[in-house]
Amino acid sequence: MSRNVLVLADVRDGALRNVSLECLAAAGRVAEGGKVTAAVFGSKAKSLAVTLAHHGADEVIVVENDQLDQYTTDAYFQAFKQVIDTVGPDVIFTGHTAVGRDVSPRIAARLGVGLISDCTDVQLTDGRIVFTRPIYAGKAFVKKVVKSGMVFATLRPNNIPAREPDPSRKAEVKELDVTFAPETLRTIVKEVVKKTAEGVDLSEARIIVSGGRGVKSADGFKPLQELADVLGGAVGASRGACDAGYCDYALQIGQTGKVVTPDLYIACGISGAIQHLAGMSNSKVIVAINKDPEANIFNVADYGIVGDLFEVVPMLTEEFKKV
Ligand code: FAD
Repeated sequence: MSRNVLVLADVRDGALRNVSLECLAAAGRVAEGGKVTAAVFGSKAKSLAVTLAHHGADEVIVVENDQLDQYTTDAYFQAFKQVIDTVGPDVIFTGHTAVGRDVSPRIAARLGVGLISDCTDVQLTDGRIVFTRPIYAGKAFVKKVVKSGMVFATLRPNNIPAREPDPSRKAEVKELDVTFAPETLRTIVKEVVKKTAEGVDLSEARIIVSGGRGVKSADGFKPLQELADVLGGAVGASRGACDAGYCDYALQIGQTGKVVTPDLYIACGISGAIQHLAGMSNSKVIVAINKDPEANIFNVADYGIVGDLFEVVPMLTEEFKKV
């Protein structure tokens, strides 16, 4: 059964986030000959259409409007709803990001259709789409099938690989004019204050070096940042470290922080509380550095180093510099 599948491209600072391309890969898995459409918003939207085509979009709907450069609920809701009304898709994918988590349930509720959030896998089995998502803070996974009607799905970043770009692929690019009545926009972004360092985006990072209360101070994060820089990764943190004021809450990983699935997660001075594991236990390889051999983090770690992080982390940095 062929399906029309719509993907909302996630754009940050005028660039496509990788999860947009992962959503296109998921769309390609389930379209079964139907059309894969990507919607992209913002004043640079048109320039992003080619990349979307190379990664699997058959059609790109461009809404070039500078009121969509920064995400706001009202503007995105109106623009995306208009795209959905135009395309009439069977399945709609967004990233399980701040954007997708806000706009998808809002429109699904308005349309009275279903939503499956935080999917870690999407497969076609006997002609039906099977969505996999974690439950019980990542301790188990459920598979869900939607029997009929339109469905929204948000995809957790770093779980479904993006397709290799095919420069010969072309998409039909359509411009959609969306205008907003000023009284319908309840929020206007006046300034964006970035609290985390420029560089690798934590939720899409392939390598994360994460620090907990064992790091002991804001200065204690410096060796972790050095290791992350050498590895081309990002720095994350436990809530313990954030609560202690060692780092900003933007770095928090866990049940009430970011959920990450990097290829490599290096946990330094983190005990491994269930709420922290909820945000990182699906990482592909976990390395734990902790001076307590009984720490719970070792139960989920692929490699454990019992030792003082202030000795181990600089040693790792020096060794990786040689590679
Ligand atoms: P601790 O538990 O204090 O662990 C510090 C570890 O560092 C210890 O294991 C110690 O052995 C080790 N250590 C100390 N010094 C060194 C050293 N020099 N070298 C090596 N190891 C050292 N937590 C999250 O992380 N994310 C969440 O999203 C989150 N959400 C929560 C939501 C709720 C509703 C609640 C109730 C709690 C939540 N928590 C969350 C908090 C969570 O329960 C833990 O309190 C927190 O994760 C502990 O942080 P920690 O591991 O850094 O600190």
